[in-house]
Amino acid sequence: MTLGEWCDENGEYGDKLLEEWYDPDRTVEEVTRGNRVYKALWRCSAGCTKDGEAFTWEGLVSHRTRPERSGCPGCARRSPTDQNNLLQWCQDNGEHGRKLIEEWAEPELAMKDVMPASTKKLSWRCSAGCTKDGEVITWEASPNNRTGSGCTGCPGCAAKSPTDQNNLLQWCQDNGEYGRKLIEEWAEPELAMKAVTPGAEKKLSWMCSAGCTKDGEPFTWEAMVYDRTGSRRKGCPRCALVNRRRIKTNSLDYDRLL
Ligand SMILES: [Zn+2]
Ligand SMILES: [Zn+2]
Ligand SMILES: [Zn+2]
Repeated sequence: MTLGEWCDENGEYGDKLLEEWYDPDRTVEEVTRGNRVYKALWRCSAGCTKDGEAFTWEGLVSHRTRPERSGCPGCARRSPTDQNNLLQWCQDNGEHGRKLIEEWAEPELAMKDVMPASTKKLSWRCSAGCTKDGEVITWEASPNNRTGSGCTGCPGCAAKSPTDQNNLLQWCQDNGEYGRKLIEEWAEPELAMKAVTPGAEKKLSWMCSAGCTKDGEPFTWEAMVYDRTGSRRKGCPRCALVNRRRIKTNSLDYDRLL
């Protein structure tokens, strides 16, 4: 059976296929309805457009006549159209949309050619002033992630990534004597303090600056960055031990005096 004959027998849906047939090489009488090889060109009859023209796509003839009846990818929101694309989404979503347009960092790809729910990782550039080594911070995220309800933005703004504005070295420089002590105690030769956030949940090495030693070397220990910068400001565990003993000794002396 040809596709033409099949369409004639399939009422409204058949009429729709005849209307959508847009193949430049064959007529509906020149393909069988079950053809599993021939990819024909189709044109949406429901109003999808792309760059102002009726939306067209290639699809197997058999896919259109099988029971599942696959249709226009534009209507199915699987392909970007003029009606449904990331740029359009941004234009419909006020301030948040304007921010995304500003943060778009894909030079080779237009926002109108991407779906708002695409899960492909793409590049973005902070619009709020975060820099890293003097360059505007960029990161990767899918459009789906940026337009969805759990929308995440610049990791620098969220204090998840170190920036020139927010890093451990900067924190130390802003925190007087205690900050200077941390710089002195830093014991990570391969890692720069500016490459770590002040709130990092990362165990790193530190070296006592108050004279504790082990086997003749300055005493080192591991501590989370946030434990050192947070309200607890945990320091060298040996110093802490010595201090505790001293307090104990002092109080004993005090007891004796009484
Ligand atoms: Zn369509
Ligand atoms: Zn930022
Ligand atoms: Zn110590």
